[in-house]
Amino acid sequence: DTIGENLERTAARFADREALVEVSSGRRWTYAEFDAAVDRLALGFIDRGLVKGDRVGIWSPNCAEWVLVQYATAKAGLILVNINPAYRTHELAYVAEQSGLRLLISAVAHKTSDYRAMAREAGLTDVVYIGEPEFDELLERGARLDPALLRDRMAMLSCDDPINIQYTSGTTGFPKGATLSHHNILNNGYFVARLLGYSERDRVCLPVPLYHCFGMVMGNLGITSHGACIVLPSPSFDPEAALRAVQDEKCTSLYGVPTMFIAELGHPDFAAFDLSSLRTGIMAGSTCPIEVMKRVIAEMNMREVAICYGMTETSPVSTMTRFDDDLIRRTETVGRVMPHLDVKIVDPATDLTVPRGQVGELCTRGYSVMLGYWDQPGETAEAIDAARWMHTGDLAVMDDSGYVSIVGRIKDMVIRGGENIYPREIEEFLHTHPDIKDVQVIGVPDERYGEETMAWIIMRPGAEPLTAEAVRAFCAGRLAHYKIPRYAHVVDSFPMTVTGKIRKVEMRERAVDLLG
Ligand code: ATP
Ligand code: MG
Repeated sequence: DTIGENLERTAARFADREALVEVSSGRRWTYAEFDAAVDRLALGFIDRGLVKGDRVGIWSPNCAEWVLVQYATAKAGLILVNINPAYRTHELAYVAEQSGLRLLISAVAHKTSDYRAMAREAGLTDVVYIGEPEFDELLERGARLDPALLRDRMAMLSCDDPINIQYTSGTTGFPKGATLSHHNILNNGYFVARLLGYSERDRVCLPVPLYHCFGMVMGNLGITSHGACIVLPSPSFDPEAALRAVQDEKCTSLYGVPTMFIAELGHPDFAAFDLSSLRTGIMAGSTCPIEVMKRVIAEMNMREVAICYGMTETSPVSTMTRFDDDLIRRTETVGRVMPHLDVKIVDPATDLTVPRGQVGELCTRGYSVMLGYWDQPGETAEAIDAARWMHTGDLAVMDDSGYVSIVGRIKDMVIRGGENIYPREIEEFLHTHPDIKDVQVIGVPDERYGEETMAWIIMRPGAEPLTAEAVRAFCAGRLAHYKIPRYAHVVDSFPMTVTGKIRKVEMRERAVDLLG
């Protein structure tokens, strides 16, 4: 199936069930209404002269139209280019140029972002703004067109066509445009949702950004391929809106990166929200602290929550925990490989598989591996080898039963005096400190050891800021001496991507300034 065919199948089966709810405006669509709106928009695109393979960008915070555009471009065979709503003029211009955009769909403004002014400054002329008459006009023009035009267009499409350029989070540098097919992302969304046990009775709260694979694949495509309902709590992440949406919309599932769950659990009115409808959900995107996972299961009622591991380049999910895994595996590992995919752990120097239990680079192969980076053959060849293994840049260990643990990114590993230090291990340990709300450990340059470790700490409300000495005293005797952080730095927040990932690159730059 292409994405469009799959949506039609769902819409035929579950016509009267809800497909999409935008909580902030109260707007709702059943599957029949949603599919009809998607058709009008797809025809609107055809009416504008867009042909198969043309690139259409979307640059907007989460909203219902985002979802419509995703499915309408898929039906019309257009390549959707997802653009981070936090981008500014310079980045927008880069992406527009790099992907060769023919049309941009954007929001007018959100919080401090004046998208219209920025698009103008970036020199983009073909822009349609959601919420302005021109967007409705697209729909109206589509409604007047002969639906046979869309049938003909859909008949031209193959599930191996590129349908999406998804830019990576930009956690480790400048984002790269992973080019993905219907086959890549529809299958991945479908299998993730199947392992979560989705049916038409599920309602899934998505506080994660739609521009990212977490929202648009594990969210939207997973949800619609099973007839469940997409619930959008707010344009950008707001812990209170997410908790309220779960309560009021009786959501059965909630997604988030760890920082989002930490914010929800830490909300002053957390206990007042009724989360009893929750059953499952996904925590993914970066290492999921064990303590947080345990609280999500116990206090948010998410008995069947899963951890997923993956990357934009692999559609995204490669490994995932299952409900019947024991609590330790469900909290301390990223589960086992997904159906129909292969995972191996190799020594990055030799490319040979390492013995079980040893750290190496995780590589994955199968239907999920992207077609390539858009217009970057050199980068593609570096990431995907001749045997089609995707080299993830992540360090991992696989145990005898096939459970994978992510140790960190190759780029974040600290080498202190010849010893490899995986910041995650220290972070997990410091999470057990009663005054620490959140913590990140980075490497900073050091004359004597090459690198030293520094802990960035967010204190719990009311707790006294911790000094480096206090941190060291807490670790003494419980962590090997070389892993004990040399420096501590108390902050209110970490530098983050909009996907809620912590940008250690930026922390390292700032740390160098701090240390003078
Ligand atoms: P960029 O590639 O632009 O630097 P990014 O790698 O963060 O950014 P994404 O594709 O959004 O972009 O994220 C994929 C990465 O997120 C993985 O390579 C991995 O490092 C991390 N990750 C995802 N899920 C998990 C998880 N469950 N546990 C640990 N790390 C995870
Ligand atoms: Mg990456």
